[in-house]
Amino acid sequence: MTEREGLFLYPEIFFPFPGGKVRAFFTGKIPGVDREAVCRELEASPCKLFMPVQKHTSDVIVYEDCTDDEAAIPPPPEADAVITAKTGVALGIMVADCVPALLYDEKTGVIGAVHAGWRGTAKGILANTIEKMIAAFGSRSRDIRIAIGPAIRKCCYEVDLDVLKQIEASTGAGKNKKNMTGGIFLEHPVKGPKAYIDLPEANRQQAMACGVKAENIWLSGMCTSCLPEKFNSYRREFRLGSKAPGRQGGFIIRHS
Ligand SMILES: [Zn+2]
Repeated sequence: MTEREGLFLYPEIFFPFPGGKVRAFFTGKIPGVDREAVCRELEASPCKLFMPVQKHTSDVIVYEDCTDDEAAIPPPPEADAVITAKTGVALGIMVADCVPALLYDEKTGVIGAVHAGWRGTAKGILANTIEKMIAAFGSRSRDIRIAIGPAIRKCCYEVDLDVLKQIEASTGAGKNKKNMTGGIFLEHPVKGPKAYIDLPEANRQQAMACGVKAENIWLSGMCTSCLPEKFNSYRREFRLGSKAPGRQGGFIIRHS
């Protein structure tokens, strides 16, 4: 792959920090999760990029056990979110329709990466990650900034009403009504008991129910299923007969 081929989407929410301490971006289908290209863009050398083995859980791990001895690094544990306060350690997750979210707390220096499909969203993985930052590092939700990357949205994501109910419950609807702006779903106009849900918006609301400020949450506004030139989409590609859709990712590192 030639130098910087492909799409790197930088959320403005992380730009205000002086000196560029944090580097964070979402990738498109190119470079996807190509480790070499991602590490080059992260300016991580040597490249300590940690990506958990994702299983649609609500498990969050604290990654503090990195070592310079590659042979001593244990195999990545299963989890769908990872946080660290270490500098020079990049965190990443891979997605194709699921929500990639990146987190940064300037006060404690903690960074995080989250993979939230509908199951993870329903189980509250983003809320769990925020709570873990608070419990493990003393973060305060009002200091946490979150970037929510390209994922499948309500233009394309048809689900059963049972899924809708679980997603709605996970947004804190009813608990913190003043934060709610609606908009996570559209009822299906024709087919009866179906709905279209907006996974990025559901995660935004879940974060707000945890006390994260609206102005500290960035949304890409992009739907992976609508943009085949830019993004892999599990739903779209599966429908077209692909058995193994590709992946893109979200990556973050704190350099100092
Ligand atoms: Zn769409």
